[in-house]
Amino acid sequence: MKKEEILKKIEDYGVVGSGGAGFPTHIKYRTKAETVIVNLAECEPLLRVDQQLAERYGEDLVEGLECAMTAVDAGEGIIALKEKYRKAVQKLEPLLNDRMRIFYLRDVYPAGDEFITIKMATGKSVPPASIPISIGVVVSNAQTLINVARAMKGQPVVTRTITVTGNVKNPVTVTVPIGISYRQLLEMTGNDISGEDAYIDGGPFMGKMLTDLDSTVTKTSGGLVVLPKDHVLVKIKTQPMSHILRVARTVCEQCQLCTDLCPRNIIGHRDLKPHMSIRAVNYGKMTQSQTIKGAILCSDCGVCELYSCPVNISPRRVNQAIKQELVSLGIKYEGVLSNEDPLWNARLVPSRQIANRAGLKNYYHLDAPLLEDLPDVHKVRINLKQHVGVPSEPVVLPGDPVKKGDLIARIKKGQLGANLHASIDGVVSKINDKEITIEKGGEEEWK
Ligand code: SF4
Ligand code: SF4
Repeated sequence: MKKEEILKKIEDYGVVGSGGAGFPTHIKYRTKAETVIVNLAECEPLLRVDQQLAERYGEDLVEGLECAMTAVDAGEGIIALKEKYRKAVQKLEPLLNDRMRIFYLRDVYPAGDEFITIKMATGKSVPPASIPISIGVVVSNAQTLINVARAMKGQPVVTRTITVTGNVKNPVTVTVPIGISYRQLLEMTGNDISGEDAYIDGGPFMGKMLTDLDSTVTKTSGGLVVLPKDHVLVKIKTQPMSHILRVARTVCEQCQLCTDLCPRNIIGHRDLKPHMSIRAVNYGKMTQSQTIKGAILCSDCGVCELYSCPVNISPRRVNQAIKQELVSLGIKYEGVLSNEDPLWNARLVPSRQIANRAGLKNYYHLDAPLLEDLPDVHKVRINLKQHVGVPSEPVVLPGDPVKKGDLIARIKKGQLGANLHASIDGVVSKINDKEITIEKGGEEEWK
């Protein structure tokens, strides 16, 4: 298939980056690169999606990689994964052509931060406040590339594979229609909903607290991690800023461990100095200082708050607050790549160690096997904005019957966005400015 044909199908069938904010893939691939990296690190402990998809759908993944390489004119494809994903390796190895190779990432966190993945797989650092294409690299995750391959066969993105794990009786990884609620997800996987639990949307480290179980699974949902309400990770994620600042003022000993182990700092983003962010909020405003602007470079990985700081301060949250203030003032970071720490590779934190320190020891071993034989879904609410850009524009009306895979909302003309498709057969029962609801069994009512 030719480059333009590939990009058109990716656009038509609604492929967006599955591993991050959902950047539309047809725009991302409209470039030229030397290398495409498949980010199969899945470095958030407990998530088991990409490693199992690679094992089950290796052919699609490699075909998606081939399409991505053609789209961006890349001569090299690298699948970056951990050696412990042995079954995925066994599946993928015989499928690779001579322009593709596997790179074994160390089992460290955050191996899946794309800047760190690139550094490990190619030795190159992405400059601060830049993106991988600036050094000729495009990174996509496994689910994105599987969706690319399926788009070539005319299959739109209508499902999402997601791990449900943690304090549940049935840890499992399931492929579900986009638009089901997290409540439905828990019920259909045989897991109880308890008032004693808290819910994280995404991985345990970088995921956000889920306050409404009726919110819906989107193209970018990666996990549902259930933890007791008094779990240390829940406390860290929910502590108010006033508390964080009070602790920072009282106990920060300026030991610099947060900076010495900061993954972005050690690959050459030296203006990101979390200990200086703490100093800044303790001793006054420094919004013009290059060091404070460096907070913009923080990836939110959480190594500083979960592992480095001996006195439980959260430089990550402080950086988030500084970033917000800088953005509101229209201040941007400008700076260059500095020398990496000669020991950068050795300073990355072993996954098991950080998981143990973050109180995940009891859940770290959970397999969450991939199941695809699930009960029928009778209702979905498809969010109109599951991607970077503006919300999609509905092309259906209440009462319209739809089949799974039908286009229901399209990219607004001239805007950044992604097409959306029905994820179940049924009837459009409701449309508002946020979502399109499709229900099964209402067909007669609407005639
Ligand atoms: S690791 Fe903790 S105590 Fe040390 S400088 Fe950073 S925030 Fe302060
Ligand atoms: S969260 Fe902390 S460790 Fe991670 S990039 Fe930001 S400052 Fe560095």
